[in-house]
Amino acid sequence: MTNHICETCGTQFNASDLPPQHCPICEDERQYVGWRGQRWTDHDALRERYRLRIGEDDGLLALAIDGDFAIDQRALLLPTDAGNILWESLSLVTDEAVEILRARGGVDRIVISHPHFFSSMGAWSDALGGVPIVLHEANRAWVQNHHPAIEYWGGDRLRLSDDVTLVRGGGHFPGSSVLHWAGGPRDGGALFAGDTLQVVPTRRHVSFMFSYPNLIPMRPGAVTALRRRLAGLSYEDVYGYAWGRNIIGGAEAAVQGSFDRYLTSVGAPGAFASARLLVFGATGQVGSRVMAEAVHRGHAVTAVVREPSDVASLPSGVEGVVLDARDRAGVARAVAEHDVTVSALRPPPGREPELAALTRSVLDGAAEAQRRVLIAGGAANLLMPDGSGHTVLSAPGVLPPAVRPIAEASYAQYMACVAHPDADWVYFSPAAMLAPGERTGRYRRGGDVLLVDEAGQSGISMEDYAVAMLDEVERPASNVRRVTVASA
Ligand SMILES: [Zn+2]
Ligand SMILES: [Zn+2]
Repeated sequence: MTNHICETCGTQFNASDLPPQHCPICEDERQYVGWRGQRWTDHDALRERYRLRIGEDDGLLALAIDGDFAIDQRALLLPTDAGNILWESLSLVTDEAVEILRARGGVDRIVISHPHFFSSMGAWSDALGGVPIVLHEANRAWVQNHHPAIEYWGGDRLRLSDDVTLVRGGGHFPGSSVLHWAGGPRDGGALFAGDTLQVVPTRRHVSFMFSYPNLIPMRPGAVTALRRRLAGLSYEDVYGYAWGRNIIGGAEAAVQGSFDRYLTSVGAPGAFASARLLVFGATGQVGSRVMAEAVHRGHAVTAVVREPSDVASLPSGVEGVVLDARDRAGVARAVAEHDVTVSALRPPPGREPELAALTRSVLDGAAEAQRRVLIAGGAANLLMPDGSGHTVLSAPGVLPPAVRPIAEASYAQYMACVAHPDADWVYFSPAAMLAPGERTGRYRRGGDVLLVDEAGQSGISMEDYAVAMLDEVERPASNVRRVTVASA
């Protein structure tokens, strides 16, 4: 019985008398079968043909097969507060390597990013004393050597210690994972990227491919999902999959810039083509339409509701969070868990003056969490189109007395935004008449001045107002604070 190893991808299989018929990893469209057909080797033969290169790669002990065999990944020893982690694996195990690892305190667990690097993981575990092999369960179907030391994890994050977190990024494989080490190896922390993000030769950018050898780009939706899953991690360095393919210093900004560059190149410049959206006032007339538009576009929507009983009445696909907008700490926590926040708060009649304070609380949370917030506001702050310098609120005879309380409240709300020193807000003013209606998907967009049509009318449906807000969520205009929209 032999544990056969595929010559092209380096994967070691379960023991068998005859070599396997196929290598499912090479036959997958992310890989390829060698030009001379499917070929097999085994560990004894590899030991004769190759040795391991063992040395330092940007401050970490690194191991790789010295010579041209299969994929050229290198493994790293990470001495973390979660123990010594062997990050990735190789097809060849040598006594020398095991001795050197033992001299560094041994290995507590092996963690592997994705199936292309499963290689001889079982043999490594055996040589290191049967240490666990930690894999994401979404990669389970690709395992060819069902070794008893394999431990699967699920979900998007697995915290191994204060400093070490595994993050499922997906994209290249459904279970493609990265390892975030907040405390090392240098100050500022590092991200160990596998093939989830590919450090390119400039070593100042990364890129994203479904298949690297066959040059099949990662879908934009998968890239934005990856961006979302990495949000909130800080790091100075990215260690790529191969020796020396690392971004040392300023890596977090390099990765963000790479996301933008990639998405622009593939014609999907919206950084948030699929955003996690938090909506305040979600059960109101405007909020519910913003929520519906966001769900329609495939965003992940969380609705802030006042009572636990409100959660059941939310549309399917919408998560609910019970929160009082005046609870600043709670607001900050909720905002931090989302990419963009929309505030469509509207107090009930008689309590209009509370609007400014509620908005301030949301702005405080957004500032603390450093997230963008879009305010679904009123038209009161807009300048009249007649050039008089009056606002909609101050212009004589424009507003009927019945709407003055909410107009004054929304004017105060706008001033609360202007006065807020830190928050990244955009104030969205509808046309003068905002009412339930039809979703045409079209609108006119302006800035500080009330938009009116040729007949002097100023109106927009709540549905099209929601369309305009979601367009802003997906394609944020830079340096714009005040937006107004009217029907086209
Ligand atoms: Zn293979
Ligand atoms: Zn790969």
